[in-house]
Amino acid sequence: MNQFPKKIVAIHAHPDDTEIFSAGTMALMKSKGYELAIVTMSPGGLGGIGSTERETIATRKREAAEAAAMLGAKYYCLEGRDGYIYDTEALRIRVTEILRLERAGIVMTHLPWDYHSDHRTTCQIVETAAMVATLPNVPCNVRPLDITPLLYHSAPLGSTDPIRGKLIQPQFFVDIGSVMDMKMNMLGLHQSQIELMRVMHKMEDFFGEMRKQNRQFGALAGCEYAEAFWQHLGGGFQKDPVLQDALSEFIIEPKDVAVETLT
Ligand SMILES: [Zn+2]
Repeated sequence: MNQFPKKIVAIHAHPDDTEIFSAGTMALMKSKGYELAIVTMSPGGLGGIGSTERETIATRKREAAEAAAMLGAKYYCLEGRDGYIYDTEALRIRVTEILRLERAGIVMTHLPWDYHSDHRTTCQIVETAAMVATLPNVPCNVRPLDITPLLYHSAPLGSTDPIRGKLIQPQFFVDIGSVMDMKMNMLGLHQSQIELMRVMHKMEDFFGEMRKQNRQFGALAGCEYAEAFWQHLGGGFQKDPVLQDALSEFIIEPKDVAVETLT
């Protein structure tokens, strides 16, 4: 029995990010007895085509809440402004507060080398907030955690670096084939993003492209569908491989992968 509470808090920038990057793994952890919470740093107000920022926020918060409910996860939105998420004292304290309220044992967030600046900023806020979650002098009225939560980073789209588009080799893959339908059903609740992706990224099949990413990771891992992660092992973070141990039958270590863009 490890000392980390069986509670996962996934904190990504926008509604649909957790669904895209880590919902399959969270579903598997739920089957292992873990409780789940999903946090979005922003309600995603820029993610609307033909709707105002205010209307888009209402739609996307509803979509995110419904997707979280489908997974059996709590949902929080921190109300940062989409496209303009800054690393502020207020957001750091709010994240620490939620980690404490949820008694987080495992935290998931973006990778520091993600393609989207909101994702990178979210990663920085979450890393900092998790690091101080045990410290009594953080100006936050919730009881400190007993131990710094384990921190995991989810893979950017394609697991590529933001400038050259070359593969960043994941630390490990999780075979999510058994929960892929659940993940896609959660993602399917984000109907507002279909038109956005068509306009913004010239992506004609948003859900199909997201499925393709998990199939590409699966191809690298040697299974049908996979998600990819890194555990944050630097500095003062705990290094116990709790998630990997809990999901040992689904964990795949990367083989030698050629450093090239996924296609
Ligand atoms: Zn995002």
